[in-house]
Amino acid sequence: MALYADLHRHLGGSVVPRILWRYFQRHNPDLAEKYPQYKEFEEFYTRERNTLDEYLELHTLVESVQNIDTLPYFIYRLIRGAYIFENLAYLEIRYTPYLRTNPTLSQRERIEQMKAIVEVVDKASKVNEYPIVTSQILCMHTRLSYEINRAIVDLAADNKHQICAIDVAGGDKLYGDKIDEFVKLYQYARSRGIKTTGHLFETPHGCYPQLLPYLMRIGHGIQIPLQYPELLTEVASLNQCLEICPTTYIKTGTLEELKQLKVVFDRCFDAGVDIAICTDNAGLHNVRLPFEYENLLTQDIIDFEQLQACQDASFRHGFAWPYTQPPSALLVGLLGDRTSIPTDKEKTFSQN
Ligand SMILES: [Zn+2]
Repeated sequence: MALYADLHRHLGGSVVPRILWRYFQRHNPDLAEKYPQYKEFEEFYTRERNTLDEYLELHTLVESVQNIDTLPYFIYRLIRGAYIFENLAYLEIRYTPYLRTNPTLSQRERIEQMKAIVEVVDKASKVNEYPIVTSQILCMHTRLSYEINRAIVDLAADNKHQICAIDVAGGDKLYGDKIDEFVKLYQYARSRGIKTTGHLFETPHGCYPQLLPYLMRIGHGIQIPLQYPELLTEVASLNQCLEICPTTYIKTGTLEELKQLKVVFDRCFDAGVDIAICTDNAGLHNVRLPFEYENLLTQDIIDFEQLQACQDASFRHGFAWPYTQPPSALLVGLLGDRTSIPTDKEKTFSQN
């Protein structure tokens, strides 16, 4: 049995279209009226966009319905799907807590409410019947102020039992003016002992090497092997893992076809840079993790050996995976020994 880890999944983009559409029908008459037919909604929700900005606009639709009261509804369904359909043993869920707070409150009140959001996400992701090891990554956001982003870092630092790392998200076109601010925030995060990842080198607009030294993993990072392969030696020496989310690059118009990722994988393997294959927005894409794997295999972008190397890397680089080995190694003792001993069922069969 193979069990997987997903290190890069946004809470907003994790809602599959059918769950979101049903939610509208049940609980949001305005949006239900706007999208009366499921098929049309699915087409609208999952179609390819021309740019990362256009693609990120969709997140606002989900964010608008994900609040302190409704989060358990969506998270329960996320965990259920991840367990049943994706064989996930480990999942890091990321989101911007400020954007889940009540927008009618003052900024100070919204900052205070972030802690309650973290609690709700934590509680909702522990589902007895679908046991997955989960942790949260809090995303700073390019559209939010320094003060709010710093409060997000503080929240992560004060709640390491629930939050494993911080990230920056929200569209890389806005990094330019604020890059010094984010360097400062990452320096501060590291000084408080927080683990770090960040959306960087995703599109040609997001290539800021000055932020690289502060990251323990790189959210996407595909432009490094594509355009700046000279940086790979340093990435390898810092043991930074690339979180590669294949379907995203097609949906955002960053790549035209998946095959363009072959050079990304080849150059990373050659340089000794680890890659974790992730979904980013499994719901928005309607592509679950096993299908990301399968697509890479069927298009000859990677082979089975490389896939396993990436799957092992996902557990090795998991910020809150509590074991030193992936589940396959842990299960050998349980299942492996059994496979060589005939079971009672097999004994019965051989007697017939
Ligand atoms: Zn992402």
